[in-house]
Amino acid sequence: MANPLYDTLFGRRAGRSTPFLHLGDGQTLSYDAFLRLTARYAHAFRAVGLASGDRLAAQIEKSPEALAVYAACVQAGIVFLPLNTGYTGDELSYFVSDSGANLLLCDPAKSEALRPMAEAAGAALMTLDAGGNGTLPDAARDLPETFETTPRAGDDLAAFLYTSGTTGRSKGAMLTQTNLLSNAEVLVDYWRFSSDDVLLHALPIFHTHGLFVATNVILLAGGSMIFLPKFDVDTVIAQLPRATSMMGVPTFYTRLLDDPRFTRDLLAHIRLFTSGSAPLLAETHVAFEERTGHRILERYGMTETNMNTSNPYDGARRAGTVGFPLPGVDLKITDPQSGETLPQGEIGLIEVRGPNVFKGYWNMPEKTAEELRDNGFFITGDLGLIDDQGYVQIVGRNKDLIISGGYNIYPKEIELLLDDQPGVLESAVVGVPHPDFGETVVGFLVPQKGETLDLDAIAGAASQSLARFKHPRRLIVLDELPRNTMGKVQKNMLRADYADLFA
Ligand code: ATP
Ligand code: MG
Repeated sequence: MANPLYDTLFGRRAGRSTPFLHLGDGQTLSYDAFLRLTARYAHAFRAVGLASGDRLAAQIEKSPEALAVYAACVQAGIVFLPLNTGYTGDELSYFVSDSGANLLLCDPAKSEALRPMAEAAGAALMTLDAGGNGTLPDAARDLPETFETTPRAGDDLAAFLYTSGTTGRSKGAMLTQTNLLSNAEVLVDYWRFSSDDVLLHALPIFHTHGLFVATNVILLAGGSMIFLPKFDVDTVIAQLPRATSMMGVPTFYTRLLDDPRFTRDLLAHIRLFTSGSAPLLAETHVAFEERTGHRILERYGMTETNMNTSNPYDGARRAGTVGFPLPGVDLKITDPQSGETLPQGEIGLIEVRGPNVFKGYWNMPEKTAEELRDNGFFITGDLGLIDDQGYVQIVGRNKDLIISGGYNIYPKEIELLLDDQPGVLESAVVGVPHPDFGETVVGFLVPQKGETLDLDAIAGAASQSLARFKHPRRLIVLDELPRNTMGKVQKNMLRADYADLFA
């Protein structure tokens, strides 16, 4: 094939009048209309000088037109670089210059502020707003509705996707056509997606979950999406009766459970709920099943690899686990020091290899060399184990491991205990510097609505069930945990804010 990703995800649907996107205003966009828009955008990118292999950085609101920008990049062989809409001008400047972007596409409201930076970086500037207006649609208006697809090989880059920046500065993961396509093929099959599926899409599209997992799966299956600008409980509850599936981050599910209108009756057509990007609490899994009869299917992936593991579609979906390695993915647990594979049941670094694993970090050869082994295994930075039934369990990130007085402490063990205490909604445990122990344990607690926590009782419970070196030295009540847009708890912020607690 001339351009495997375009031909397989998009090209096959040319001329089809079947729906691709159901929009909030009751309108539907067909595959055909979407692909005609895509072709016009591809011409517009060529007209401003973008060649095959060039990079397009986009900080744009979620819209059908924004998805067409992705499709147009694939069709024209342009490397697509979506950026978090929350980034400030300074942050954008790093991404645009770091990536060597040839074009920056941004919201019209920001274009004047960003123009000097784009010029300095040698990038052209175009605009697109949430309603689909801007200089890009203007330029594309009268351009042809077909575009001769640019040939690309499976090994050519399709996207640079920046990681979420949960543990430090975001890194640009170089993803090839094969990385994306192979994973979409596996997921369609594993999760049984078909052209009958209507996916409720409330995720952002600058991140792997909403862009590649959700969108590529639907494109490959030929199904449609209820395409919502963001997760809004009222809208999601109103739209769920039309959907067959939803992909979410754990906060989607906790927010739905918080709403009494979220009942079984809404879900007559739903066959699948998936969760990922952050750990789903076992208690959310259980409460969700009690309320709806559905067992959420939890899976595990990351920007650099797409999806690695998944709970089974037919077999037991086990709370607190991320299931089995997907077909084609080799997964092993290794000793962080020696790199040797550990026996089943022991905690170590999760390493993965497969057609889904990226080519390396853009402009970071040392980091790439540290994390991507010569034999193709990628050291994910996540700690986990494989249990006696072959399910993978994630215990946390290696960077969040606490080493106190020479002992390894896995925050998750303590968090599970704290979460179980009366009145506790959720918790986060981090290590902060300590003069005697190197690091020591601090627990952050968020109370349930209207509850006041009995910290002495909670400390007592921790002392009873945990070895002394794991006892939190301090318990701190917070209104909420710091989270980024993907719902991930930013432990580095907690560590930084409380670094002097024992100084
Ligand atoms: P950065 O790499 O910039 O610090 P990040 O790792 O959060 O940010 P992403 O690539 O968006 O960036 O997230 C991947 C990470 O999300 C995984 O490495 C893992 O820690 C976490 N994750 C994803 N799915 C799950 C899951 N089901 N359970 C627990 N953690 C998960
Ligand atoms: Mg990461």
